[in-house]
Amino acid sequence: MRTILLATLLVASPVVAETVAVQCGDLFDSKSARLVGARTIVTSDGRVSQVLPGRVSVPGAREVDLSGHTCMPGWIDLHVHMASQSGPRSYEERFRLDDADYALRAVGYGEKTLRAGFTTVRDLGGEVTLKLRDAINAGLVTGPRIYAAGKSIATTGGHADPTNGINSELSFVLGTPGPTEGVVDGPMDARQAVRQRYKDGSDVIKITATGGVLSYAKSGDAPQFMDDEIRAIVETAKDYGYAVAAHAHGKEGMKRAIEGGVTTIEHGTYMDDEIFALMKKHGTWYVPTITAGRFVAEKARVPGYFPDIVRPKAERIGGQIQDTFAKAYKAGVKIAFGTDMGVGPHGDNALEFGYMVEGGMPANEALQAATFKAAQVLGASDLGQVEPGFRADIVAVPGNPLDDISLTRKVAFVMKDGVVY
Ligand SMILES: [Zn+2]
Repeated sequence: MRTILLATLLVASPVVAETVAVQCGDLFDSKSARLVGARTIVTSDGRVSQVLPGRVSVPGAREVDLSGHTCMPGWIDLHVHMASQSGPRSYEERFRLDDADYALRAVGYGEKTLRAGFTTVRDLGGEVTLKLRDAINAGLVTGPRIYAAGKSIATTGGHADPTNGINSELSFVLGTPGPTEGVVDGPMDARQAVRQRYKDGSDVIKITATGGVLSYAKSGDAPQFMDDEIRAIVETAKDYGYAVAAHAHGKEGMKRAIEGGVTTIEHGTYMDDEIFALMKKHGTWYVPTITAGRFVAEKARVPGYFPDIVRPKAERIGGQIQDTFAKAYKAGVKIAFGTDMGVGPHGDNALEFGYMVEGGMPANEALQAATFKAAQVLGASDLGQVEPGFRADIVAVPGNPLDDISLTRKVAFVMKDGVVY
């Protein structure tokens, strides 16, 4: 019994980053977005050290035979929420569960995400994720590399006001949330909220520029920040080297966010030609999260799944995102990969590739959006490519994903920082 247990533990814990020769049947070059043929990727000390033509042996290296497989850089999902996973009981659970419960669940979500081929994620909201990130970095638990926003910043009653939908008695006991809790009204509050995120250890700032689908509030698309509040956030964020990600469904809120200088628009449901032009002018990225849209539109049809105030928003907004993505792609807006997992089930992130291709984006560009382009959004100069000096993050799928994008759901090999999972 003891031997079996020990063996299980050894399998479960990651191997040390040794020198590995990953012999790939084909390699997707994320910069040119094309397949370059058989390659052997040599990794040591957590980085790619060489990329050799063909499948060859390398003295002293452990060999991984991936003939018949396509290798590519580890995928990056720019919009997840590792601290939660929505379900019909999410709303009541907020009153029963502790952070420890959410943290323990998050460990499982992190492991699923990594094994699905996502070696890096940007988490756009959830305080527990800051601790999950640290635990993963310390090697205590298994999961992707995380860039975490910590608490999202909202205005009073906005999409990320943590006291939405609770009764007056509880509201009285909890008090009015302020910048510390990520709720701001006015530019001074906005500055304080960004500085508080710095104090908390966030890696990126997230704002909810318009209403949202899952919050206990009526409007999913009304603007929720004034120009001066957004500008205060973006300017303060710059002082700390932070990019700002803006959740937005409605047009007016998006406009204010883009003109205010945010880096990404998340969801972007009601974008139109005017917004596309504005994004191109400002160099703003679009992170579509089609998966979340499809998920909530489907669940809106299940009686009782969402509260009455949420269901109509889920139906209307959810169904729209894929159409918007199709138009944005045609208009030439810069698009990077994000799913909003935590709305849908963690580990199903690769569904987004299929939805992007369905929306008119060629498979090679969808893969590029989750590698080369997503790394640009993160400002990470050693992620998103398989090149000497880059972090040894590699995924492989059987066959050719450019012919059949659904192969991205059949990940056969995952390496992060040179460690095989
Ligand atoms: Zn989200």
